[in-house]
Amino acid sequence: MPGVPIARPDAIRRHNLAQLLGQVHRDGELTRANLTERLSLSRSTIGALVADLTELGLLDERVPTGGARAGRPSHVVAPRPDGPYAIAVDIDVTHLTIAAVGIGGRVLNRHTLPMGPRPGPADLVARHIVAEAARVGAEVDKRAWPVGIGISVPGAVDWHSGTVEFAPNLTWRHEEFGPMVAALAPRGLPVVVGNDADLAVIAEHLRGSGRGSDDVVYLIGRVGVGAGIIVNGAPLRGHDGYAGEVGHNVVDASGPACHCGKRGCVETYVGENALLELAGHTGPVTAGSLGAVFAAATAGEHRATAAVRTVAAALGRTIASLVNVLNPERVLLGGSFAEVFRLANAEMVQALDSHTMGAPRNTVQLCAARLGNDASLLGAAELAFAAVLADPLLTRSA
Ligand SMILES: [Zn+2]
Repeated sequence: MPGVPIARPDAIRRHNLAQLLGQVHRDGELTRANLTERLSLSRSTIGALVADLTELGLLDERVPTGGARAGRPSHVVAPRPDGPYAIAVDIDVTHLTIAAVGIGGRVLNRHTLPMGPRPGPADLVARHIVAEAARVGAEVDKRAWPVGIGISVPGAVDWHSGTVEFAPNLTWRHEEFGPMVAALAPRGLPVVVGNDADLAVIAEHLRGSGRGSDDVVYLIGRVGVGAGIIVNGAPLRGHDGYAGEVGHNVVDASGPACHCGKRGCVETYVGENALLELAGHTGPVTAGSLGAVFAAATAGEHRATAAVRTVAAALGRTIASLVNVLNPERVLLGGSFAEVFRLANAEMVQALDSHTMGAPRNTVQLCAARLGNDASLLGAAELAFAAVLADPLLTRSA
């Protein structure tokens, strides 16, 4: 029939390989019987695809032992411990985390470097990343091989070029960070860069609190504040990749000064600096100072409790605007917002109730993000794995 495209057999095979690998990446160990059912393919086709992915060094297969059931048990297909891994990097204002992450999202090893009050200039951070990537790589199975470096940055990232356009809390402006790391990394190793909240929502959608929902907003609460957004099952990037900079929406033009140069941004009311200041802490944000505020609020100490409640109410108003605009099914609270939500749930919900339109409020659920501080790191791994998951035949064995 003229005009009807016909899928070529190798295109179908590539598609099926990607589908099968994607299932194991998302859910971990699966039996051949599971895969046959999920992919609606014949048992012999599944057998051939598993053989291909095993040959490529991506998956492993074993016959389960034990069990009292009669009959031949279905083979179990799983990620290989000596298979490919992503080098995932999470740059936060106070520290840098770098990890080797295998297929299935398993963290194989990790290093965390304190970065002082600020990580320093981009070229210095790029050198740290490449040095730590080598250490991380030396600790994994000798037969394993890296597929790429995925980097999470707390700032606006041009996703086409890997340029960090503006990361106010790092004091970086127009840093060609992706190319900078690639120039120092082993030749040919792809380097991809994304915004921390954008990457966190990808990880939460795949294996955290966003799983099973196609309309998710993830709010990250760190020194900076941002949103990662999934709409109709796909990440919302915007034209250049800058969508979700909720932290710099101005709510009061005469409000407190923000690191971005404006006044009265959302971040100045709900970011970690705002929380510490409200609680009477001076000095920079550290895991210790934040932990102390949350511990004091948990114990019912007056000023810490009031600080957490004030932040919760401001956050509820911010969420209300997002709910009105995006009509999400779930709003996930990540970073320090998870703890604010736990301690001052009532204040947050009340602010949300008061400031949303009725209909979208009725269906939205608020929940703490499940992956904790690893969400951006695991999202960075997804970024590095994306090409292999899309076309497993592109992988290369060491
Ligand atoms: Zn701002």
